[in-house]
Amino acid sequence: GAQRESKVRVRAHFDYNPDVDPYIPCKEAGLAFQRGDVLHIVAQDDAYWWQARKEHERSARAGLIPSRALQERRILHDRTQKNGTDLDSKQNDDFDREQIATYEEVAKLYPRPGVFRPVVLIGAPGVGRNELRRRLIARDPEKFRSPVPYTTRPMRTGEVAGREYIFVAREKMEADIEAGKFVEHGEYKGQLYGTSAESVKSIVNAGCVCVLSPHYQAIKTLRTAQLKPFLIHVKPPELDVLKATRTEARAKSTFDEANARSFTDEEFEDMIKSAERIDFLYGHFFDVELVNGELVNAFEQLVQNVQRLENEPVWAPSMWVQ
Ligand code: 5GP
Repeated sequence: GAQRESKVRVRAHFDYNPDVDPYIPCKEAGLAFQRGDVLHIVAQDDAYWWQARKEHERSARAGLIPSRALQERRILHDRTQKNGTDLDSKQNDDFDREQIATYEEVAKLYPRPGVFRPVVLIGAPGVGRNELRRRLIARDPEKFRSPVPYTTRPMRTGEVAGREYIFVAREKMEADIEAGKFVEHGEYKGQLYGTSAESVKSIVNAGCVCVLSPHYQAIKTLRTAQLKPFLIHVKPPELDVLKATRTEARAKSTFDEANARSFTDEEFEDMIKSAERIDFLYGHFFDVELVNGELVNAFEQLVQNVQRLENEPVWAPSMWVQ
C-alpha cells in the first residue's frame, strides 16, 4: 500500500554493518551507519527491520536497519553472554551507557536571538578543557561567563564572598545536592565544591553564553531540556603529537596547564585511555569532537563551533524542541 514517509529522525548510539549481520533478510538491502549518525526513519512498519536513510545523504535509497526493539534484544543477549558470571563486577558507569545504546529521537533546535545554550567542555584531565574555557572567556568576558562555584571550605584572606566562591555550610550544600540543585559537584581535601543549576540559568537569562568544563560525570545531570547544553569533547591527539605539542608549549609558555608542570609518559598515555573511556561512555552525546593538538587551532575550532551554534540549527533530543 501507499506508504507515507515519517518525519522521525534518530541519532544512532551504535555502529551497524549489515555485511556482518547474520540475521538481516538481505545484506544488499542493509544500511551501514556509525554511532552518532543522524538517520531519517522512512518506515517503521516491521517490528524488526526499519527502513532508513542517512540524513546527510538525502538522495540515497533507504536501507534496512535493526528496529529499536531488535537492537535492544541484541544488547540484552550480548550482555548475558558476556557477563553471565560476573554481573556484580560491572562498573556502574558501564550500565549508564548500556541503558541507552540504541536510537535517540532528535529534531533540529533553532537558535533563538539573545538566548545562548550553555557550552560544556568535557575532556580527560590535562587535555586542556579548562584552558580552552579560560581563553573563550578572556576573548569576550561580557559574553562568555562561568558561574561562581559553591564551596564548603572556609574563605581565605584576600578572597571575596561571591567572587571566587559562594561560601556555604556543609549541611546546606549536602541538602541542596540531595535536592538536585547542583549540575556538578565534587570533594577535594575534605571540602565540597560544585556548580548550581540556578547559576547556569541566571547566566543564560542574562543573555550570556555560560561556559562550563566539569568532570565528565556531570553530563548525566547537565543534559536536560531545561539547560539544553551544547557538549564538546576536548580530545587528545595521538600520543606522539600529544607529547610534542605539550613539550613545545612548555618551552614557549603558551599553554597554562602544561606550563604548570610537565607530564610523564604514563600521564600522557592515561590521558588517551581516559579520552577513550569518555568516548565509550558518552561519545553519542557529544555535538562536537575537538582535538586539542596545537592549542591555537583547537581554540579557533572552538570559536567556530560556538559561532555556528548561534547561526545554525543543530540536532538535539526531540524532547528539547517544543
Ligand atoms: P581551592 O580550594 O584551592 O580554591 O580549589 C581547590 C580545588 O577545588 C580545585 O582545584 C578543584 O579541583 C576544586 N574545585 C573548584 N571549583 C570547583 C567546582 O566548581 N566544582 C568542582 N567539582 N570542583 C571544584
